[in-house]
Formats: sequence, structure tokens, C-alpha cells
Amino acid sequence: MAAATVSVERAASGARNSAALDFLRKPKQLLIGGKWVAAKSGKTFETINPSNEEVLALIAEGDKADVDLAVKAARKAFDEGQWSKIGPHERARYLFKIAELIDKHADELAQLETLDNGKPLTFSSAFDIPAAAETFRYYGGWVTKIYGETNPSDPSFFNYTLREPVGVCGQIIPWNFPLLMAAWKLGPALACGNTVILKPAEQTPLTALRLGELIMEAGVPEGVLNIITGFGPGAGSSIAEHPDIDKVAFTGSTEVGKIILKASAGNLKKVSLELGGKAPNIIFPDADLDQAVPTAMMGVFFNSGQVCCAGTRIFVQREKYGEVVDKLAKFSKNVTMGDPFDQKSTIGPLVSKEQFDRVKGYLEVGKKEGATVSAGGEAGAGKGYFVNPTLFSDVKNEMRIAREEIFGPVGTAISFTDENDAVFQGNNTEYGLSAAVWTRDISRAHKVARSLKAGTVWVNCYNQLDPISPFGGYKQSGFGRELGRYAIDLYTQIKSVWMKL
Ligand code: ADP
Repeated sequence: MAAATVSVERAASGARNSAALDFLRKPKQLLIGGKWVAAKSGKTFETINPSNEEVLALIAEGDKADVDLAVKAARKAFDEGQWSKIGPHERARYLFKIAELIDKHADELAQLETLDNGKPLTFSSAFDIPAAAETFRYYGGWVTKIYGETNPSDPSFFNYTLREPVGVCGQIIPWNFPLLMAAWKLGPALACGNTVILKPAEQTPLTALRLGELIMEAGVPEGVLNIITGFGPGAGSSIAEHPDIDKVAFTGSTEVGKIILKASAGNLKKVSLELGGKAPNIIFPDADLDQAVPTAMMGVFFNSGQVCCAGTRIFVQREKYGEVVDKLAKFSKNVTMGDPFDQKSTIGPLVSKEQFDRVKGYLEVGKKEGATVSAGGEAGAGKGYFVNPTLFSDVKNEMRIAREEIFGPVGTAISFTDENDAVFQGNNTEYGLSAAVWTRDISRAHKVARSLKAGTVWVNCYNQLDPISPFGGYKQSGFGRELGRYAIDLYTQIKSVWMKL
């Protein structure tokens, strides 16, 4: 289709890594059974650089026919056992090798991530790419530590459990941390011996495709990892519905999570869902404000606010509301938005035109609802999907800007009367992914952490994420815990074996 419109030089003008530029120039195909192939339909779609709105590359548009082939390849690889039944030391070595290759190509991957997603290169280099390598390394360590149990059965029997892989897994990931989300999904799935069909988000397919090449380079047998790029309806829905996929893991919006859950009922897939959030970020009057203000605000603005655990509802006790909001606003106004390849930029553009329009819409909603714009409040001028870091104050927890996930650099400051009110309002949301508490009072910190209905609570910090610690949601933020040993539960099933002695 629109091949003539692709100019890597123009679209990737900020990038300085020649390997990243070479990768952009190559065809972007599907990975099925160890081979890179065009979509059966021959269709492609564009992936756009959100900082200049230029087409970076054309990507194969996979759909049901391609998913069917990928599932066949994944099933064959699973049943043949060259992955699921090899010795754990050997499988671990593959995961360590993948981590090493990510490290080796870190700059290339960071530049591709920044081009495709718009996040500042300083963040993709310092966070996304090393964290992806660390995730594979962490789960490489688990391969040799996945134990069954012997159970205290009647002495005339011997009963033990085996932890076995689930089988063929469909993994559907979002565009906010493209490589890292692929690592969170693939690390534990591969460690446990499963085979996978990975569907990257249509907005940001590049690093997953490059990761596919690296995983093949690491020597992982063909068919163990299959990658189908394409859209949600089409590629994603065919995975969720497929009768021969055993498990589906999804990270994305609550709305799509519900669609996937329904679609997976056909063959009763195991399902894990990591969905939206609207985290309370509670600043008590005794908090160390020099620490709380910048860290809480970056809990809103990190990744241009396109983070499911963003701490977008900032609660401040009434007596200190004016003083703290002034500080929050001052910090927000000093956050540098700009070219993601410029080292000075703290935030880049939003990922897509769709997201840009959506977030701009919420800026208008907030103004109409009567909130005060204390910082930002407008989209950036010129090319690229830039929205200024925004703080709304005088917000009520009932307003749409405090209830709905905006997924942009937009914080809302809400007042509370006392600890009970802070907890009540903080929990008064349909979501429950994360929360934060800022206080010097240890006992209050523990009490409030226990009372908040969220899968992660941060005390005097924000966005502390590490593969050692579980991550996932209460309420409509989903179910199942990724990371830590909990992800091993998601990707194994337990068999109880009884022997008559
Ligand atoms: P966002 O709203 O943040 O873009 P989505 O939840 O729409 O996030 O998308 C996250 C992932 O889910 C993407 O890979 C997308 O293609 C996929 N997706 C979207 N709609 C569907 C669907 N109906 N079935 C399966 N996957 C879908």
C-alpha cells in the first residue's frame, strides 16, 4: 500500500544508531514456526513516530489465518517437547542468552523504542531495555527452581505434585512499555516450558520484532515463540477466541480485558489480566514534601502518564491543600517536554493521534467540570502528539477526570479531611492496581497500606518495579499476579500423582 510514504531518514531523523536504522529498512514480517513470513492476506499497516507523525515502517498485518498457522506451530513445538521437556539447566541458559543479547543490543533497542513509542531515550536506555534484560535473567534463574511437593499422604500411598507447563499461550501486550511488557510475558512463560503466540500493540511493534530476531539468535527452537503483529480485532481477537490456545495473558484497557475474558470462555482458557488504574497518591501533612512533591508528580508524568499504575489522584489534607498544590504546580510547570532524543526532555509525545485526541478531550472535560488548571492544560503546538504536563486542582473524586483512566500527563489534586477520609476516597474507584502513601508516621503508613484496595502500595516512593515483586490488580484492574514467583503459578499447572505402595 503506502510504501512510497516511508522515509526512514525523515521519520527517524533523531536516531543515531545505525543498527536501528538498518532494522527499520528491513521488511517487518510475522514470526511463525521459526520463519519470518508476510501476512497471508499480504496486508500491511503503518507504524508512526509520534514525535514527528512520520511513517517509520510498514508492518505485516496478521489476522485469523496467520494466528491459526502460529498456533499450529506453537502446538507442534510444545508437543514435540524440544522446549517443554528439555532439562531445566539447558532452558535456563537460553533465557540468560536472551538477556545477554538484549544487553548487547541495548542502544539499538532503546532507539527503536523511542522512535516507535515517543518516550525519552534517557528513559528507554535507563529503564525499559535494562529492565527487560533483567526480567529474562530473573526468570532464567527460576527455571531450575520450579518445584513440586511431596504430600503427607496415608503411608500406603505416595503422593506428589508436578508443576507442568500450561501449553500454548497467547500473550497480548500494550504500547506503553513495548519491550518490557514482552519480557514480563515471555520470561515466565518460556521459563516454565510453554510455547507462545505474542501479539504486540499495533502502535509499537518494532522492539518485539527485534526481540523475536534475538530470541531466534539465542537458538530457541522454532515454533516456541511466534509473533503476530496486527490489530486488536483480527489478530488479538483470534488469539482470545482460538480453541487450541490454552492460556491467554493480556495487559491493556479494562474494556478490552472484558472482551478477552468473554472470548476466552469458548475453550475455558486460563486467563490473566492486567488492566487499567486510577491510583490514589496520598500525601499526609507530615510527609517530607521535598521528596513527596517531585516523586508523586513523576508518578503522574512518567512515560507521559501512559502507565496503568500512574498515581493520578493526588490526595492532600485540607489544612495543607493550598501550600502543597502550589508546590505540585510549580514542579509540573518545570517538567521539560520535548524531542525524546534530547537528553533534557523528561517527557515526550503521547503514543498516537488517537491517544492525543483522547487526552485533549479530557483536558476539556476537566475544565467543564469546574476543576482549576494549576499547570499545563493545553496540547503542545506544532508536529507530534505532545500534551503539556497538566495539574488540575479543586478536583472532586466524583468528577470524570478523577474516575476515568486518562492515560496522559494529567494529575488531579483532591482534598481530604482525615486518614479515614483519605482511605475512603482513595478506595472509591472501580480500579485497584496501585496506590501510594506519603508520611513520616510508620504506624500510619502500615495502617493505610493495609486499608488500600490495591495490588501494590508504595510508601514514600513511586513506580518501584522489579521482577522480584508481584504486580497486578484488585477489582477491575484485573486478576492474576505477574512477576515474582507468582508468575510461575500463571504459567504452570499442577498435577497430583498418587502411587499405591
Ligand atoms: P489501549 O486502549 O491502551 O490502546 P488496548 O486495551 O486497546 O489498549 O490494547 C492493548 C492490546 O490489546 C493491543 O495489543 C491491542 O491490539 C489488543 N486488543 C485491542 N482490542 C482487542 C480485542 N478485541 N481482542 C484482543 N486484543 C485486542
